[in-house]
Amino acid sequence: MTPILLLEDDAAIAATIAYALAREGYAVTQAMLVREAEQRLAATPPALAIFDVGLPDGSGLDLLRRLREQGSRLPVLMLTARAEEFDRVLGLELGADDYLTKPFSPRELVARVRALLRRAAHTPPVAPSAFELDEAGQRIRYAGTWLTLTRLEYGLLRTLLRAPMRIHSRDALLDAAWGHQAESVDRTVDTHIKTLRAKLRHCTPGHDPIVTHRGMGYSLTA
Ligand code: CA
Repeated sequence: MTPILLLEDDAAIAATIAYALAREGYAVTQAMLVREAEQRLAATPPALAIFDVGLPDGSGLDLLRRLREQGSRLPVLMLTARAEEFDRVLGLELGADDYLTKPFSPRELVARVRALLRRAAHTPPVAPSAFELDEAGQRIRYAGTWLTLTRLEYGLLRTLLRAPMRIHSRDALLDAAWGHQAESVDRTVDTHIKTLRAKLRHCTPGHDPIVTHRGMGYSLTA
């Protein structure tokens, strides 16, 4: 049975979803709080997760962001309360694989879940070797595509690539990518890492090769 984690605090909606998925043979674990979902994710990693946005102790979007920062490729379907462009765009930017706007039919949800699981099964793992650095041409290829990078994004990614397993501090990245004239603060690195991540994720949906190490810096995943 394929395990699915459902994070939804509306008991009626959660029951409807759980019933529809169970009927299709999925093993559904339910959580009503973000911290509860985090415990479940750590204890028994599911094959797919469904996150509501607004929860009593936080946001499903923040949980999604944290997962992606840790390099998780778990397929995530977001449930948004309103047809708000903001939620939708933000969710996809943060690495959601799909989203549904309430109200939706259980049948639609089951179809999306099935499609995501099928896609995940066919997504090959991506190694740092999926990158190709062309220093002479100042360009980088990722998962078969030459990336369109700004000078700073190129500098950052080149630095990460030269020592993929090493954790690069923000200071080291600043020096390597910006040079010594840089007067920027840490935040600048974070901003460019964010745009870089979006470009990489575009090539490999659901996978973020850049890992955030809290308080330390960034590395590329093995
Ligand atoms: Ca809610």
